[in-house]
Amino acid sequence: MNKYDYLIIGSGLFGACFAYRAKKANKKCLVIEKRPQLGGNVFCEQIEGINVHKYGAHIFHTSNKMVWEFVNNIVEFNRYTNCPIADYRGELYNLPFNMNTFNRLWGVKTPIEAQLKIEEQKAEAVVALNGCNPQNLEEQALCLVGRDIYNKFIKEYTEKQWGRDCKELPPFIICRLPIRMIFDNNYFNDKYQGIPMGGYNKLIEVLLEGIECKINVDFFSSEYKNWERYATNLVYTGALDEFFGYSLGRLNWRTVSFNTRIENTPNYQGNAVVNYTSHNEPYTRIIEHKHFEMFGKEVYNCPKTVVSEEYSSEYRDGMEPYYPINDDRNNALAGEYRKLAKKQENVIFGGRLGQYEYYDMAPIIEQVLKIQL
Ligand code: FAD
Repeated sequence: MNKYDYLIIGSGLFGACFAYRAKKANKKCLVIEKRPQLGGNVFCEQIEGINVHKYGAHIFHTSNKMVWEFVNNIVEFNRYTNCPIADYRGELYNLPFNMNTFNRLWGVKTPIEAQLKIEEQKAEAVVALNGCNPQNLEEQALCLVGRDIYNKFIKEYTEKQWGRDCKELPPFIICRLPIRMIFDNNYFNDKYQGIPMGGYNKLIEVLLEGIECKINVDFFSSEYKNWERYATNLVYTGALDEFFGYSLGRLNWRTVSFNTRIENTPNYQGNAVVNYTSHNEPYTRIIEHKHFEMFGKEVYNCPKTVVSEEYSSEYRDGMEPYYPINDDRNNALAGEYRKLAKKQENVIFGGRLGQYEYYDMAPIIEQVLKIQL
């Protein structure tokens, strides 16, 4: 049999970028994907002429010039800049915390006035601790930003995310809460950001152009499980524990579920991302997908819109594994699995699932660009 140089499990950004580079290096690849479509979590579904981010809103951002040039050589990126809004019981604020937020919150106009307000409230929290260190997330956050910011933007939002009271969450979850003393609503500090023109599917299409791909094939229940018969090397981007048959135990995940619907209006919330920071709404965010790719008057060219409510929840079998959980048990278990992975010859464990590590898109691409082929 004419073997493949690489059998690639998973067609997300790791698998697709790897296949692209391998093809350029004249290597023969086969990509297999268990979902009914290619692209992993960046896949978008077209609804009412809008690219809907089916597995969660994805905004590309990086300060790495090599990564930015790599993706822009493949597809042009638009000018989308992430400027989320927070809705706290009907009051709207700009995020991340910056002078616009502080002006709306306290009526302050200058950075000095804002800083004084924050310092005053931080000092209250430190006094309340009576010389002790913060014992839970609430105490930690109060010391970092004071009561007003904590109560309106952090407390109930975090409780929705984790399904637990902030007093029951460990302080280390929040190490830093960046505060900007300038009028700047751009969420990311990175040099470059945007969304691929024509959507993420276009990016994946070009990456996988001319490469043999099979969808609806699960590695573990297919003939490819005996991969050495088909390929010299394996690139595995599925779940790390699943590769080893969960022999050491299961790794835990957090997940998000989406309630996506069409709204019969061209402009539902005027922004791509609105965070709901109180318990008034059960969801954490509403995403209005058209704003990622339509700007100004373009928004009205499309008479309807598609919105997704996001609900944070505990992972159960059958759900999508999204975020690794960085607690002691999972860190130790992942470490044991990584030791097993190191012993596998001719296997690259890549991506978010294969490394049990949360990575944004740009670091995933950076990792692939650094692999020697
Ligand atoms: P994936 O995209 O998950 O691809 C892995 C693929 O492997 C999947 O298609 C899966 O079906 C397939 N697979 C798994 N097991 C098997 C098997 N046994 N057989 C066959 N196929 C298999 N990053 C940003 O930079 N900006 C953002 O705004 C952002 N938002 C995010 C929002 C959410 C909700 C999540 C979860 C992540 C977000 N990310 C974001 C991170 C981004 O999704 C990842 O960096 C990227 O998807 C990683 O690509 P990957 O190839 O490792 O994983």
